[in-house]
Amino acid sequence: MEMDYFKLTNKVAVVTGAASGIGYATAELLAEVGLRVILLDIDEVKGMQAARTILESGYQAQFIKCDVTSAANCQAVSEEIKQSYGNIDVLFNNAGIIKRKTVVDLEEHEWDAVIDVSLKGVYLLSKYIIPIMAEGTGGSIINTGSGWGLKGGDKAASYCAAKAGVVNLTKAMAIDHGPQNIRVNCICPGDTDTPLLRSEAQQLNLEEGSFLKDSAVNRPLARLGTPQDIAKGVLFLASDLSSWVTGTELIVDGGGLA
Ligand code: NAD
Repeated sequence: MEMDYFKLTNKVAVVTGAASGIGYATAELLAEVGLRVILLDIDEVKGMQAARTILESGYQAQFIKCDVTSAANCQAVSEEIKQSYGNIDVLFNNAGIIKRKTVVDLEEHEWDAVIDVSLKGVYLLSKYIIPIMAEGTGGSIINTGSGWGLKGGDKAASYCAAKAGVVNLTKAMAIDHGPQNIRVNCICPGDTDTPLLRSEAQQLNLEEGSFLKDSAVNRPLARLGTPQDIAKGVLFLASDLSSWVTGTELIVDGGGLA
């Protein structure tokens, strides 16, 4: 494959929730195709290690600690990236958390935490990064939704609400910022083997092995997603291959929603 096939060489990508799972796999893939990747996460130890691993493979990566629920933090980090890199071409708003509870069982602080990380975080970082993108030549923003942003799910009320919010926030952002040559799309993963998915077994008091097996068979392709499966979808949305795609969602779920 031609080296600059994706037309992303030396472009700058910001990835949130990049210390683990889907965020890490995406940071790795974007770095492999030539982007300079800034990994953001609240977990400093895992985030530093993640960036080091990518650097040691010979690609360009930097970790900056960022809590996406903090406006001050998002603003300062965006400014720091602008100072160091000049502009930002790709933003993957991916950090998210889940609580497997009904509205009756959710404590108010648990409801707030899920909405703050998974929905408000998308708004906050975009608020500070979009003006930087717009000063350059535009860019591509990818928000992580979920199959459960498109349909309901059991015992995940705040998460379903947050992810449905992300799906429609994506469309609103696409409409507002298309004229600045900024495309905004959503990736909706199905069950993907990450620490988040495994934590759900514990939250539901289920044995992890059987929970993962049940999740895997519940779809035409009859296996769990890998973080790399999702990263490939993000790469498509980040790259010129999706040059006329905006305001929509890409479902990557082994056919689960079908
Ligand atoms: P993960 O737990 O492996 O990774 C999430 C990362 O987000 C962690 O590194 C965590 O430290 C970070 N994070 C949490 N709070 C943060 C904050 N306030 N600021 C910055 N970073 C923060 O989970 P994952 O499965 O890779 O999930 C990534 C995204 O994919 C989430 O939005 C999740 O809802 C979504 N998703 C996952 C699945 C799945 O089955 N794994 C399915 C659909 C959607």
